[in-house]
Amino acid sequence: MTAAETMTAIVKAGPGPENVVLRQVEEPTAAPGFARVRVIATGICGTDIHVAHDEYKYEAPVVMGHEILGVVDSVGDPADAAWVGARVACETYFSSCEKCEWCRAGSRNLCPDRRSLGSFENGGFARFVVMPMINLHPLPDSLGELDGVLSEPLACVVQCLLDPAIVNPGDRVLVTGPGAMGQLAAQVALAQGGLVTLAGLEKDAARLAVAASLGIGTTTAVPDEDSYDVVIECSGSAPGAAAALRSAKRGGRYVQVGIFGRDVSLPFDLVLYKELVVSSGFASTATSWRRAIALIEQGLVTLGPLVTRTVPIEEFSSAFEAAAAGEGIKTVIVPS
Ligand SMILES: [Zn+2]
Ligand SMILES: [Zn+2]
Repeated sequence: MTAAETMTAIVKAGPGPENVVLRQVEEPTAAPGFARVRVIATGICGTDIHVAHDEYKYEAPVVMGHEILGVVDSVGDPADAAWVGARVACETYFSSCEKCEWCRAGSRNLCPDRRSLGSFENGGFARFVVMPMINLHPLPDSLGELDGVLSEPLACVVQCLLDPAIVNPGDRVLVTGPGAMGQLAAQVALAQGGLVTLAGLEKDAARLAVAASLGIGTTTAVPDEDSYDVVIECSGSAPGAAAALRSAKRGGRYVQVGIFGRDVSLPFDLVLYKELVVSSGFASTATSWRRAIALIEQGLVTLGPLVTRTVPIEEFSSAFEAAAAGEGIKTVIVPS
């Protein structure tokens, strides 16, 4: 018997950020019903940073990374052979229980026993990743080389904003936080006919400039109070959320997209005083993926300029630090 080939992977090996390490792991193979995807690039998500700091659930050791763009390398069932060579974006659920009330209703994102790539099952910060066939979404040929890496965060934004639709044409919309989720939320709200302002801090000038180049209004000022029909909180920070609550109009809508990663203090009485409708979306569903891919195919979102840095896997730690510090918009890791 020959020894299995190994590959370099970013592994969350135990508690604390010091246990995010490069390791050689065995290259996986696909069983029937599964595909092995050769990773082109995998985006660094806020969730990866939360996993690194033990602020999001995981099971160690696990290969991190869930915003996966790749090419189907092999399949476990010969009946799926037509998929080999397809460029794909990948849903993140490796498995869910299929029996709970949420799975039965098509909301696998809410399954308490969901096991996702990059936190409970080996993910995309490596040369290969194995996943169920139903996770695969073929990407249009027209899409730029790395754009597909943003399909997964786009599906999450769509889950928050389009299912059901939150923005009506002509609504004044404030988005707080110009990271990848804020940029995508601003683009989706614009596509829905909103008059969109993306708010950030002085240090966000470069990120806001990207949004401005795509026709989105931007500001670094404190947003006007009681002014917006819809506020979309994408910063995952208490000041951002407080500004969003204050900026919402009476009878307006507040959408939580960012993750705080811990308990925070907020002026939540404003929800009552202004009769705000609060909603959110956790991860994605098959429906939000279908809508996200449709937005891409119809050119209603522009993904290319949001990929601001490409980093070889060996240099992951500087890239993780930069992502945690809010530098750039989307940094992607390229395997060796
Ligand atoms: Zn993500
Ligand atoms: Zn379930």
